[in-house]
Amino acid sequence: MITVVGSINMDLAVEMEIFPKQGETVQGTLFKTIPGGKGANQAVAAARLGSRVRFIGAVGNDSFGKELYENLIKEKVDVSGIAMTENSTGIANILLHNRDNRIIVIPGANYDVSKEMIDENIHHITGSKLVMMQLEIPVETVEHVLSICRKQNIPVLLNPAPAKNFKKDWMQEITYLTPNETECERIFGADWESVLKEYPKKVIVTLGSAGAAFHDGNNIVRIPGHQTNAVDTTGAGDAFNGAFAHAICSGKSIDEAVRFANVAASLSVEKFGAQGGMPTLDEVMSRLG
Ligand code: ATP
Repeated sequence: MITVVGSINMDLAVEMEIFPKQGETVQGTLFKTIPGGKGANQAVAAARLGSRVRFIGAVGNDSFGKELYENLIKEKVDVSGIAMTENSTGIANILLHNRDNRIIVIPGANYDVSKEMIDENIHHITGSKLVMMQLEIPVETVEHVLSICRKQNIPVLLNPAPAKNFKKDWMQEITYLTPNETECERIFGADWESVLKEYPKKVIVTLGSAGAAFHDGNNIVRIPGHQTNAVDTTGAGDAFNGAFAHAICSGKSIDEAVRFANVAASLSVEKFGAQGGMPTLDEVMSRLG
């Protein structure tokens, strides 16, 4: 069982031909509500591949919250650790113009994922093969989960996004850290190759269309990206993390898991929407060959 402790958002995407200036009103061309939040995206990615996934998180007692809760059930994610709180459901307001975007995130109920809530769900955590987290919930909750997992010897995969919430002294409690290139440099203040050398078999850096890399104890291993026709790269990192978690829990080595995740993420960018693009196991296996 993989337990995800993380965020659940409704993405409110608005497309327009021109961004409004201060005080200006413009007419948009498209509005869509799309289930998102890094936690939920990664949970769906692992569940689509066949992993048993349980979620600890929170939504508001409002229409978005109910829709997102039902969506996770539909994706076969165990929602018994999701609370409905008094806050509004987390949202990401995404303004899209050509290839440019401006995003406002309101964490809402995601910030109700407290240490107390973790303690109420401790039985979920202790029975896990792997705990997967991101940084869209309170930092003290992440720290609390890390300390429980260290005491219970449960491996933790942390995707440090957004990177500004990361603390370097967590490194000894983390089994796998999966920053993208920018997050890696922001967290460690060094180029990613040096970071990989410092943390062999622990840091896996994702490099967008260029693939991913890690250090195997002897050398840096670069897994090139799959050439593909990218339609929407939103959630590529989430696809990578969910797939990596699935592969590790299926007994694969880091090398095999990174190759598997790289293929899964390349499939995810071929379809619109973060969760909509998460591939099935058959799709990944046929591309892996
Ligand atoms: P996001 O924030 O958009 O979810 P990210 O910045 O966290 O993504 P990236 O490093 O951009 O993560 O991408 C994660 C993985 O997705 C890459 O390691 C790669 O496997 C795959 N990927 C991303 N973009 C492409 C692309 N254009 N073509 C093929 N694979 C891609």
